[in-house]
Amino acid sequence: MTSTTASDYSQTTHCSECGTEVSHRPTVMEFDGQEIHVFDPALCPECLLSLCERVAVECANCGGKIPPYSQVGVLKTGTGASQFVHMTTACSTVGSAFHGFLGKHALGEYVQVEAC
Ligand SMILES: [Zn+2]
Ligand SMILES: [Zn+2]
Repeated sequence: MTSTTASDYSQTTHCSECGTEVSHRPTVMEFDGQEIHVFDPALCPECLLSLCERVAVECANCGGKIPPYSQVGVLKTGTGASQFVHMTTACSTVGSAFHGFLGKHALGEYVQVEAC
């Protein structure tokens, strides 16, 4: 099925990693006690899990894992490096200068959502 002439407006998409059909989006998965919802890119649960295991960063506050495609708080350290914390009241301290969205290709970086 390589034809693209037919109507492509179907609910079925394919995992951007392995090409498996993904029938439901967002892909919902629990990782390290947190629920992750990933709508874009399309990922099957298996790839989402392996992605989380590969690129999750450690919370500078509680030491837990922060999965990709989730909200993070960003701390700037004295050395100019960034540290990530969960966007929870327990982990996101007043010192968090930035809020961001951690993405697969932005590990070590983040998309700044708002500055205040
Ligand atoms: Zn996959
Ligand atoms: Zn934390």
